[in-house]
Amino acid sequence: MSLWRATVLTLFPEMFPGPLGISLAGKALGPVWSLDAQDIRAHATDRHRTVDDTPAGGGPGMVMKADIIARALDAVPDDGRPRLVMTPRGTPLRQSRVIELAAGSGVVVLCGRFEGIDQRVIEARGLEEVSIGDYVLSGGEIAALTLLDACVRLLPGVMGKPDSAAEESFSGGLLEYPQYTRPAEFEGRPIPAVLTSGDHKKIAEWRQNEAERLTRERRPDLWAGRPAPTKMPPKT
Ligand code: SAM
Repeated sequence: MSLWRATVLTLFPEMFPGPLGISLAGKALGPVWSLDAQDIRAHATDRHRTVDDTPAGGGPGMVMKADIIARALDAVPDDGRPRLVMTPRGTPLRQSRVIELAAGSGVVVLCGRFEGIDQRVIEARGLEEVSIGDYVLSGGEIAALTLLDACVRLLPGVMGKPDSAAEESFSGGLLEYPQYTRPAEFEGRPIPAVLTSGDHKKIAEWRQNEAERLTRERRPDLWAGRPAPTKMPPKT
């Protein structure tokens, strides 16, 4: 089977694989997926290896230059992988998009720094703008690591039990039910009795109800947009 390939364009290639080099993702790095972190600065042309300039219109900080970013992107052969740029202005990353990306052949991910990247190269190269949440990081590298981690754990052979992905939060549009393990009692709090009853039908019902309750209470946005429950066809 061919590897799922991640190419990351960054000013800090030494940040990769970072945390993705350990545990399940780390074991799979090589046999299941590959990671190529490319230094954007290698595409600078002046003797100071400049990659940024002052913002048009004034203001604080620096902006990554379109021509340098274009050269870095164009140096990655176009093999059909989606090209993403991490930015707080992007579409919020959802598990549904992660599942699509993991099902493909890999990704090319561009990481911003400073005040961000000249918008013209984002448009000219048709990059998909992706945000990992409504807060501002100092660079796109941790955002890229987050996206890659979410994808890599879904690749065949990475997670111990493939079923874990089917039941967890966001699958089916709900948060996951709460989890418990031994001891039977912790600081006066017992495990909910149904979970130790051995009645699998009741356990499944309890989990479904808890998933619905938590989603309703904590994430009204997800609750409102959840897929309609599948109706059993009438008996003929
Ligand atoms: N001036 C930008 C703004 O206000 O939207 C923030 C730039 S941030 C300091 C530098 C880089 O970090 C961004 O170009 C982006 O690559 C990355 N970044 C920061 N927050 C992010 C987020 N929530 N999601 C994805 N990438 C993010």
